Amino acid sequence: MDMQTVPAIEDSTPGGEAAATARAPWIRQALDLRGKLALLADAAKYDASCASSGTTRRDSRSGGLGSAGGMGICHSYAPDGRCISLLKVLLTNYCEFDCRFCINRRSSDVPRARFTERELVDLTLDFYRRNYIEGLFLSSGIVRSPDYTMARMVGVVRELRTVHDFRGYIHLKTIPGADPALVEEAGRHADRLSINVELPEAESLARLAPEKDAAGIERAMAGIGTAIAENRDSRARHRHAPRFAPAGQSTQMIVGADAATDATVLARSSTLYRSHALRRVYYSAYSPIPDPSDALPSRPAPLVREHRLYQADWLLRFYGYSLPEVVDATRDGMLDLRIDPKLAWALRHPERFPVDVNRAPRELLLRVPGLGVRGVERLLRMRRLQRVRLAHLATLGVSLAKIQPFVCAGDWQPRAQAAGLARRLAEADGTAQLPLAL
Ligand code: SF4
Repeated sequence: MDMQTVPAIEDSTPGGEAAATARAPWIRQALDLRGKLALLADAAKYDASCASSGTTRRDSRSGGLGSAGGMGICHSYAPDGRCISLLKVLLTNYCEFDCRFCINRRSSDVPRARFTERELVDLTLDFYRRNYIEGLFLSSGIVRSPDYTMARMVGVVRELRTVHDFRGYIHLKTIPGADPALVEEAGRHADRLSINVELPEAESLARLAPEKDAAGIERAMAGIGTAIAENRDSRARHRHAPRFAPAGQSTQMIVGADAATDATVLARSSTLYRSHALRRVYYSAYSPIPDPSDALPSRPAPLVREHRLYQADWLLRFYGYSLPEVVDATRDGMLDLRIDPKLAWALRHPERFPVDVNRAPRELLLRVPGLGVRGVERLLRMRRLQRVRLAHLATLGVSLAKIQPFVCAGDWQPRAQAAGLARRLAEADGTAQLPLAL
């Protein structure tokens, strides 16, 4: 698609600027770049696909462009595990869709703005040169058509990469239904691509985001997954083959906006990981937006639910747990919010403990609460050289207080501490977090 032939967003967007202006005349007030940044960074904060946290670093000149305080700087993780700062913004918060859970939906009475591609390129370069950011996270409402929107987003990253030789990290949201050629080009410029599945079940998506097409989203994810796999193969054969989304693809699911249980959420994410080789599924606890739809809960989902889902997700992917092991069948498909799911499993299975740190296989060591993947690798190396004692475990960088009730070592045999913990769990009220130290 030739970017030059695409008319400007406001020209003929039904439900776009013209319609939004009729609803909210103040959008005619011209926003300067700083105003757009404030608005479009704020609108992007609802996307959990890169964990957001503020920074207090500010430009020394008051009022100067580039103040990072609260304006769209989020922290994310690069493929090598480094924490990096990204400029997290929308190209525009106009949207022709009316997803009930979204602040940017067509019927939402919020101020609207849009960046031109040039503005976004300049802003990114400016922030990058000032060392405020190490990359860009770019998403957008859908204006005019998926192709139209995607073409503009691709235009931004194309110019950053090819004209300015921008080497920073780029995470680009792709628009479901966009021309595969645009997605292909996006993957050549971006490190990571993502498409939000939004909700765990197709039925909920049809009810709360009727213009979204669950099957189309799956198709788009499958296309990206295939392109990533093919690219990996071609790079194995030809070292200089161009890269395609080297940091993989990810997605986001809102939890608590519908009645889906944690078991349903985790089953869906397991399928997504398996079918499309996703790097990450991000869980976003539902939080009521201004002027919410009646179809949505009036109360937010507890943030701790999001946290427990991440912990369970980790257990399923890296610790060898199965879904029925992680979600206790007696809890109606929900995780216990009081304690992490690994500890919960251990307390339900006292017969599996204590684990002998000098003899147990890797898969059993991974089940010890407080012992992570790295801790287990270090322990396995250590025990090749010596008989492991309690004091040695303290040098692994793990919390002795957490693992002590569940292991035996050269000089350590726990008494009935795991059973004691289980009893206290049963006695605890529904909200208290159990102290883990004994
Ligand atoms: S398409 Fe995206 S931006 Fe538009 S209303 Fe739906 S979730 Fe919001």
